[in-house]
Amino acid sequence: MPVTRRALGAALGVAALLLASACGVAGPAKPAAGRLSIVTSFYPLQYVAEQVAGRHADVTNLTKPGAEPHDLELTPRQVASLTTADLVVYEKRFQAAVDDAVDQSENDDVLDTSTVVPLQDHGPLGDENNPIGDHEVGNTNLDPHVWLDPNNMITIADAVADRLKDRDPDHAADYAHNAETLTNRLKALDTDYRDGLRDCRRTEFITSHAAFGYLAERYGLKQIAINGLSPDNEPSPARIAAVQQQIRTYDVTTIFYETLASPAVANSIAGDLGLKTDVLDPIEGITEKSRGHSYIAVMKSNLGALRKANGCR
Ligand SMILES: [Zn+2]
Repeated sequence: MPVTRRALGAALGVAALLLASACGVAGPAKPAAGRLSIVTSFYPLQYVAEQVAGRHADVTNLTKPGAEPHDLELTPRQVASLTTADLVVYEKRFQAAVDDAVDQSENDDVLDTSTVVPLQDHGPLGDENNPIGDHEVGNTNLDPHVWLDPNNMITIADAVADRLKDRDPDHAADYAHNAETLTNRLKALDTDYRDGLRDCRRTEFITSHAAFGYLAERYGLKQIAINGLSPDNEPSPARIAAVQQQIRTYDVTTIFYETLASPAVANSIAGDLGLKTDVLDPIEGITEKSRGHSYIAVMKSNLGALRKANGCR
C-alpha cells in the first residue's frame, strides 16, 4: 500500500515526539493550567497573538529572536508542537517549512492569515531594464510582508480574536476587549503615518530587501529595493548601478539597511555617493539591536527614519 503524504506526516510527527522524549528534551511548552497554547510562525504574528490572548494563553514563536524568518528551518520539537497547539497562526507561502509542518500536523485549529489578508503582487521589482529575481516559496512575486501596513494587523487581530472566542468561549469578552485595545493602538499608528508622511520633499526610499511594498502603497511612497523579496539575494553590479541612477534622479539622501541583515551593500552604495545610512526595520524579528521592543515601537522608529530621510515637515 502506498504511503500517503498524510500518513507519512503523522508518522513523522510521532517520531518527532518520541525523539524529543527519548532525548530528555522537554516537549512543546506546556501551558499553565487553564491557559491555551498558541504557536505563531514569526514575530508580528506572535505580537498580535500575545496582545489578543493576554493572560489566557502562552504564545510560542517558531522563528527565534534574531533569526531571519525567510528560509526558516524547524526542529522536530517545533514540528511536534504544531500537532498539540490550541491555535496555530501562520502566513501561507512565506515559510515553506511551516507550510509543510502545518500540513503534517493535521491540526484543524489553524489560522492562515493570508485567508484574511490576501498576499499581493506589487508588480515587477527593480525596473524594466533591471528586474530583480526572487526566490520566494512557489517562485511567485506574491509579497509576504503584509504586517508593515498597520491596517492589515487590525484585520489579523480580529481574525485571531474570532478563533480564540471559538476555542475558548468562556473568555470571549476578554478576547474582544483585547482586540479592540490593539486595534485602537494600530489606528493611532496609522494616523501617525498619514500625518507624518503627508508633506515630504520626496516619496522614494531605498531599502535592502523589498519588504515595504504594503507600507509604500498605503502611504503613497515608492520603494526602491536593492534586493528582491528575500534578504539573502545578492544584487548584481547592473542592479546596483540602476539603483544609483535612481538615487541621483530622486535626490535620495539615505540608504536604509536592516537589523537582521548585513549592511555591507548599503554602506558601499552610500559611501560611493556620499549618502547617509539608517535603519528601516522590516520587523521580521526583535533583538537587542532593534530600535524598540515591540511592533508598534519599531514602526514608530521606522516612521521617524522615513520622515528624516524624505525631508518631511
Ligand atoms: Zn522579508
